[in-house]
Amino acid sequence: MEIKSRNEIDPKYTWDLTRVYKDDAAWEKEFAAVAGEAAEYGKLAGTLCNGREAVLSNLNTYFDLNRRLSSLYSYAMMKQNEDTGNETYQAMNDRASTLLGTVMAESAYLSPELLSLPEDVLEAYAVDPDFENYSVFLHETIRQKPHVLTQEGEQILAMSMDTLTTMDAASEMIRSLDLKLGKTRGDDGKLAPLTDASFILFLESTDRNVRRLAFTKMMQGYGSMGNTFAALYAGQIKADIFTSRVRKFGSSREASLFEDEISESVYDSLIEAVHGGIGTLDQYLNVRREKMGLSHLHMYDLYCLGEGSFEIQPDIEEAFDIFLKAVAPLGKDYVKDASRALKDRWIDVYENKGKRSGAYSTVGAYGVSPYVLLNHKKNYDGLSTLAHEMGHAMHSFYSNKTQPYAKADYAIFVAEVASTTNEILLNEYLRKVYKDDKDAQIMLIGTLLEHFRTTVFRQTLFAEFEHEAHRLAENGESLTQARLNALYLEIVKTYYRHSCTVDACVQTEWMRIPHFYSPFYVYKYATGFCAAAALAQNILSGDPEKVASYRRFLTLGGSMAPIEELKIAGVDMSTPEPVCRALDYFAELVLQYQELLG
Ligand SMILES: [Zn+2]
Repeated sequence: MEIKSRNEIDPKYTWDLTRVYKDDAAWEKEFAAVAGEAAEYGKLAGTLCNGREAVLSNLNTYFDLNRRLSSLYSYAMMKQNEDTGNETYQAMNDRASTLLGTVMAESAYLSPELLSLPEDVLEAYAVDPDFENYSVFLHETIRQKPHVLTQEGEQILAMSMDTLTTMDAASEMIRSLDLKLGKTRGDDGKLAPLTDASFILFLESTDRNVRRLAFTKMMQGYGSMGNTFAALYAGQIKADIFTSRVRKFGSSREASLFEDEISESVYDSLIEAVHGGIGTLDQYLNVRREKMGLSHLHMYDLYCLGEGSFEIQPDIEEAFDIFLKAVAPLGKDYVKDASRALKDRWIDVYENKGKRSGAYSTVGAYGVSPYVLLNHKKNYDGLSTLAHEMGHAMHSFYSNKTQPYAKADYAIFVAEVASTTNEILLNEYLRKVYKDDKDAQIMLIGTLLEHFRTTVFRQTLFAEFEHEAHRLAENGESLTQARLNALYLEIVKTYYRHSCTVDACVQTEWMRIPHFYSPFYVYKYATGFCAAAALAQNILSGDPEKVASYRRFLTLGGSMAPIEELKIAGVDMSTPEPVCRALDYFAELVLQYQELLG
């Protein structure tokens, strides 16, 4: 099918950005105003010692400037995403980035000057009712204090940033450009290029030889650059250790988790609880193995689902309608608020020539509405993506409506909870609708089980690997290719030794994962999914108090520590309990799956 140009798309199904700025001229006018005010703001350096009024007025200006800047930035980004080849919006986007840099530079004095005030003064501001909007920001500044260096130290650290991010950039260059993976054989027996994008398609093939060859070639391809990848990752780990020590943290993991105010015990108890679920993972993979008619599974068999013939094909109106019905357990007003998204044009629905691929939700402009970019496809995946992105959008909608700008942004630790909760509600709803359709049940449960495996088990496996690798380096061991490969293989075996034949070639898989260059990040996918699975059960229990707690969580933005927000939602992530509950849900799904296929 021919992809349409942007101007051939029914405007009804495009997002309405005129609510952010009437037109580009209005954006230009605001851009000039914000640039002027940024320069004025810079001149306030050195005035924070002038007392309460000076600090309050400075913070008012600072957050107002940032609010206006983020609208400028979002508008330019969304316009550019409509058609990435459009040079006007490319330029606007570049200018917005530059302005962001300018505002950061002009406001660089803020934190150090605040920290130079006597601590009791700063603490008094943080609880002063007139500073209410900024209490989180002020508490956060105080919390950071033990890890902030002298002015000279901060300058040196800032200057070293380019060097410290080189490993990430270099590994990305190898993965996306320099590494040649060669060709593999497709279903038709013909040679076809193997790339990171085509890899998954080969792994989904029902022909085992196609899967095996693609997998082996991929792992060997990465392995051919193994010494380089090991040197880069060891360098990244050294950089993580360096910054954590300079900032006086006990370990690189403690330093990474500090940002979200998460204690290391949360990380450890995730791993421990997930290990407890490996028996159920074995059981699940055993069902899959029997379904595929294989005597034993290899790692390259895991992505071949072959869920059968069932598929739903909702167009966007139908998909949106299904989504609204699926989230009905969240209450009438949630449904009413969410229903505005399509008719008020928060969503850019269809693919068009040059449009950014994938899907996302963005806060857009504070006080306007969130926006959602889709490339809607008429299948379950398209429907699920809609529910996911609307989860983010409604979280932003309620947070922005309830919180002042300075407290509206939610942390990454909680970011995937609302989106995943919606996905699970959708899956549960469709299973009720198609309760007598066996193919539908197999597809829906199978999809959810895979989501579980790749998010909870796989990401925790990654989390375990990066933690061990950092620990080895902190204990002075040198991280060679052989050491990292052996470590990775050992951890993969922990998860898969009972259900699969773990071929040694999988030992280079860690080289493919770009997230390892954002240390201690992936565990949040696993905790977020477990929180969502537990919360979806709460919501579906129909207990109005549990629904109300979850709804309150959606309004909290960044007004509290992430773990406290989730406690309000109904899950205490400082204990392994929610992870165990999620794993119980997984076990229940495995049983149902087994019965369906039995
Ligand atoms: Zn998401």
